[in-house]
Amino acid sequence: MKRVELPGRWIAWPRYLSNLAIPIISFTIECTLSPMEFSFMWTPSHAMPSGISPLLTVHGLTVKYDGGGQSVTALHAVNFELAPGEIIGILGESGSGKSTLALSILGLLPAKTSVAGSIQFQNQDLLRVDESSWQTIRGARISMIFQEPGLALNPVMRVGDQIAEVIRAHQPGGRKIQKQGAEAILREIRLSDTDRIYKAYPHQLSGGQLHRVAIAQAVCCRPQLLIADEPTRSLDVTVQAEILDVLHEVNRMFGSALIFITHNPALLAGFADRVIVMYAGRMIEDGPVNQVFRRPLHPYTKGLLQLAPRYPGQDGLIRQGRLPVIPGRLTDADRLTAGCVFEPRCSARTAVCRSEFPHEVTPEQGRRVSCFNHGN
Ligand code: ADP
Ligand code: MG
Repeated sequence: MKRVELPGRWIAWPRYLSNLAIPIISFTIECTLSPMEFSFMWTPSHAMPSGISPLLTVHGLTVKYDGGGQSVTALHAVNFELAPGEIIGILGESGSGKSTLALSILGLLPAKTSVAGSIQFQNQDLLRVDESSWQTIRGARISMIFQEPGLALNPVMRVGDQIAEVIRAHQPGGRKIQKQGAEAILREIRLSDTDRIYKAYPHQLSGGQLHRVAIAQAVCCRPQLLIADEPTRSLDVTVQAEILDVLHEVNRMFGSALIFITHNPALLAGFADRVIVMYAGRMIEDGPVNQVFRRPLHPYTKGLLQLAPRYPGQDGLIRQGRLPVIPGRLTDADRLTAGCVFEPRCSARTAVCRSEFPHEVTPEQGRRVSCFNHGN
């Protein structure tokens, strides 16, 4: 934890949120730490020792929504691996296919959807498991925190009972043991006043408490994989800070791997081990967060990082002047093209980008990028 001075008072602030607070809070936060202390030289806590099998392997995942006479290919041949206990950030603008990826992993895609490829989770292909097998996976081995966790809770049921119900669905034992399990998880994620929270209905809790309850419900069976789809989108910055802190704690305490979906790069700095950048349903860049943020290879990643106000330790705490924009829109790029889907918006494009698809390359160990002019 680091200490950050808000006007008139000091608060404890997790290290990775020092990056987040500065762009979002409009009033001045004076940081007493040197730029070096804010730097991106953060070492992942979950670097995978060689020889460890991946927890999740997504290979050639292609998802096409059919229906209404139109079809939308939301994911194009997506490939990635996730190590046990690793935190991956999925970064991309709205419509890039992030939620579709999450729903694919959880087997929650709508009926009229064509899916190809494979999603191996602990030697099981999730695209080929039947509904009865899903009962033992969803909520127990893989859990999800949705964009609006408060809306995912039943408004007429006490929140403690809702957590106990998840435990009941997956673990043997009487009601007393399930209640104790629910109380324990509320304490573990540091909700103070556990008794009151357990008996409360959702409307009696604050936004931050609701998010914590949703996290408690998602992790009460100690899943190996937790997927959080923009869980902090509707929260103010101080509650965002708390929620990221809770997710980090869950990852540390239970060893759950985390896929954290966001459109905000600032949330990933110092939080995720790796970042995968998505554009128009494709993974266009992948690498350790500290490396990608310090030296992005894909022009789109560069643009995204420039859109976010400067990070401390780059050149000053607060950007002066107007933020740049990436010209065009994602939907413009949805056209059928033989070339790169980002070409119409790309500042580094050359003739080849229009006619040929840039296949993925590995310019250095641990990094992948799909761009002919990567690094330029
Ligand atoms: P993101 O989460 O990055 O905003 P989504 O995965 O929600 O992106 O959407 C990716 C693309 O798939 C978008 O073009 C979106 O309009 C389309 N899409 C998402 N869900 C459906 C659906 N149920 N039916 C048809 N198209 C969909
Ligand atoms: Mg989404």
